[in-house]
Amino acid sequence: MSGHFIPDGLPAHIRHYIDGQSVDSVGGERFPVLDPVTNANYATAAAGQKADIALAVTAATRAFREGPWPHMKARERARILNKVADAIEDSETRLAELETFDTGLPITQARGQARRAAENFRFFADLVVAQLDDAMKVPGAQLNYVNRKPVGVAGLITPWNTPFMLESWKLAPALAAGCTVVLKPAEFTPLSASLWAGIFEEAGLPQGVFNLVNGLGEEAGDALVKHPGVPLISFTGETTTGQTIFRNAATNLKGLSMELGGKSPCVVFADADLDAAIDSALFGVFSLNGERCTAGSRILVERPIYDEFCEKFAARARNIVVGDPHNPATEVGALVHPEHYAKVMNYVEIGKSEGRLLAGGGRPAGLDTGNYVAPTVFADVGPESRIFQEEIFGPVVAITPFEDDAGALALANGVKYGLAAYVWTNNLRRAHTFAQALEAGMVWLNSHNVRDLRTPFGGVKASGLGHEGGFRSLDFYTDQQAVHITLGSVDTPKFGALP
Ligand code: NAD
Repeated sequence: MSGHFIPDGLPAHIRHYIDGQSVDSVGGERFPVLDPVTNANYATAAAGQKADIALAVTAATRAFREGPWPHMKARERARILNKVADAIEDSETRLAELETFDTGLPITQARGQARRAAENFRFFADLVVAQLDDAMKVPGAQLNYVNRKPVGVAGLITPWNTPFMLESWKLAPALAAGCTVVLKPAEFTPLSASLWAGIFEEAGLPQGVFNLVNGLGEEAGDALVKHPGVPLISFTGETTTGQTIFRNAATNLKGLSMELGGKSPCVVFADADLDAAIDSALFGVFSLNGERCTAGSRILVERPIYDEFCEKFAARARNIVVGDPHNPATEVGALVHPEHYAKVMNYVEIGKSEGRLLAGGGRPAGLDTGNYVAPTVFADVGPESRIFQEEIFGPVVAITPFEDDAGALALANGVKYGLAAYVWTNNLRRAHTFAQALEAGMVWLNSHNVRDLRTPFGGVKASGLGHEGGFRSLDFYTDQQAVHITLGSVDTPKFGALP
């Protein structure tokens, strides 16, 4: 593609990082990495196998048992994590360029994600210092307190959407808690993850605390999940992958955190501020190329405003700037990989027989190569249809009318997922009662996808298991040990007392 921006200094080959060293797979296996704008194979990455995972877990275990990291004062760990945040901020431009190059995300949005990654480190640095152990004193008699200890080697398995930011979302709390880690990033997008090693070295993280093994899910990911020396796995990805991991982790009874797929509703009542709802609904499904777990990919609209909403929404969708993700004017870039592109395009074709096509419906005019999909809007989509039920993970939205609150709720809850929901109404009572009845881990009322890092993040039903965010993340990466001591005279019941 002419004029396509290619960042300087791209690696021709991306390696693992184990015990402070950049290394290849023991057996030399590799896999190709593609540029989503041209689908050119611009690099290879080391394809980690069981032997590579074993080396990484050994290094992380040694760093956990012998190293200073788990035993450092929280304030000292926090100092290093804040340096990590500084380093991320200093390299924002480079990081965003690499992320955009590897994922196809619009550059302005990749910059935002880089800033969020730095915020994650600052947030957990502060939190681990602020965290006080629970302690209870029963006057004069008993002292009970809780020791929190890092669990050990944390296995972190991450997806290809906003990869660097989602990695930071696991790395920051795991490291803050004192765990050592083995990260297995997604195989479609290994590029930005290759920056972590330099960032951690510069910040002074001790050797062996951070380890990274690239590779395919069924090989490197599977080996990490099954490794007996890894007591917990934090996973973000598809629901079906989560189910496989759940089964495989059962043998060693690992701690599991699962952030999975979604098919989140955006419910617009007739009394809503229509323009604000349309702005938010567009952002909710088309930002990050629609490759967003919390995408509002089903829009439910109350009948009296249904036609007006559809008309205005589709006109705006047709106006979205689709193109080279490195162009700052671009709003929707290229989808991550040709395999994913084929999946999304297949849903676009399915949608043509399940709904009324109002915008998009295929490749945008003038973009003949690369993984581009025109923002696609289907109206009159029934709740049984596949584009209503299944996660598409691309710039495709289904709009469905409803008649009353009960009907809206049945539609909103009528899928297997339960990650996020968005509600637009100016009726305060309805907003809160509706929110309570929604089967969703997160609800945004008259608000788009803004979230304070202290709040829980996670889904219900097929969207996940457990919550991240704030203390919940630190809870996951720490074991809690209750300690009880009697302060006064010991008054134990006298079993077998002699007469
Ligand atoms: P995916 O499940 O295909 O892959 C995710 C990660 O799991 C990758 O690193 C992959 O290599 C690894 N993996 C695959 N099979 C494995 C196995 N058998 N054992 C161990 N690891 C394995 O998901 P994806 O396509 O990369 O990401 C998109 C999905 O992630 C969507 O469903 C999206 O909704 C979800 N997601 C959820 C959240 C959330 O917070 N709920 C956030 C982002 C993405």
